Amino acid sequence: MKTAHSVTDLVRAGLMSPEAGEAVAAVADRYAVALTPYLLDRLAGAGPDDPLYAQYVPSPEEAYTAPEEREDPIGDGVRSPVKGIVHRYPDRVLLKPLHACAVYCRFCFRREMVGPGGEALTGGELEAALDYIRTHPEIWEVVITGGDPFLLSPRRLHGIVEALSEMPHVGVVRLHSRIPAADPGRVTGELVAALKAPDLATWVAVHINHAEELTAEVCAALARLVDAGIPLVSQTVLLKGINDRAEVLEALFRGLVRNRVKPYYLHHPDLASGTSHFRPTLAEGQAVVRALRGRVSGLCQPTYVLDIPGGHGKAPAAPAWITPDGGDGHRVEDFTGRIHRYRG
Ligand SMILES: *Cc1c(COP(=O)(O)O)cnc(C)c1O
Ligand code: SF4
Repeated sequence: MKTAHSVTDLVRAGLMSPEAGEAVAAVADRYAVALTPYLLDRLAGAGPDDPLYAQYVPSPEEAYTAPEEREDPIGDGVRSPVKGIVHRYPDRVLLKPLHACAVYCRFCFRREMVGPGGEALTGGELEAALDYIRTHPEIWEVVITGGDPFLLSPRRLHGIVEALSEMPHVGVVRLHSRIPAADPGRVTGELVAALKAPDLATWVAVHINHAEELTAEVCAALARLVDAGIPLVSQTVLLKGINDRAEVLEALFRGLVRNRVKPYYLHHPDLASGTSHFRPTLAEGQAVVRALRGRVSGLCQPTYVLDIPGGHGKAPAAPAWITPDGGDGHRVEDFTGRIHRYRG
């Protein structure tokens, strides 16, 4: 089986009827499609009710762009001093060496920027991006994202990691990838070894949205990273109809912790074009997060965050457990919903 890159491929793989394929032709022209052979195999016989199917197979609902949606929902463009760098917070930058992914998630926040062939930085551009980091001593952490950096060859990835390790002010490199969940066989020993370099702490953030993504192959890929001494955190996008119920997130976060992945962020979906059918309201998201508090341990609790449209960074979006009582104290809610008074 080969990677599916088009509606024709999806019809051929039996994931949609020819009529359903026609209904999403325009959507697939606008937003890239890709499913890896691993996912095609996993999805054999599945339909839109499957939580993985809905994340990767285009739907006609994507044709609708809501008025509040934007091309660059989190304002990467306005914070980019040189190509491939986004510098929003003083101590950390994003480095985006390529804009291609192994799969194209239907709710992607960078969907207007990523795609096949998705402009990788040229050698010279990558050097200029690294130079920017080299000449900004306030940068302590470099977040390599994209696109999906695990698509790069181990040799190229190692070149970047090694260059960072030679910069005394850079202490941490964090790589964000969907590949452990979308193409776990790509996480080879060679790739894992390429992520490490002396005098640099390597962290990996894996993008996983549903417990059903944690198949035996995916768990084995995660174990290869952790066993090599690379701490793992996760990023999950809160998605309507896919994982926006407390019991679904509970199963996911328990599954991640069981596989030695610390749930890091639960993202409220960004205002990316054609994604309104995936977006719960903030109040709905907060209700789910509130319910989780009583169900799972602190290890299983990510921070619920909203990326402020326009490039202003992330804001914690969790419901307020502690509010001023109007006098000299506070009202504090416990996990069962009972209210207590706290002086001070
Ligand atoms: C999300 C983000 C980061 C990383 O932020 P953390 O809160 O440290 O995970 C860094 N730079 C930009 C531009 C970001 O959007
Ligand atoms: S892997 Fe990440 S960047 Fe690529 S399509 Fe999915 S969400 Fe977007």
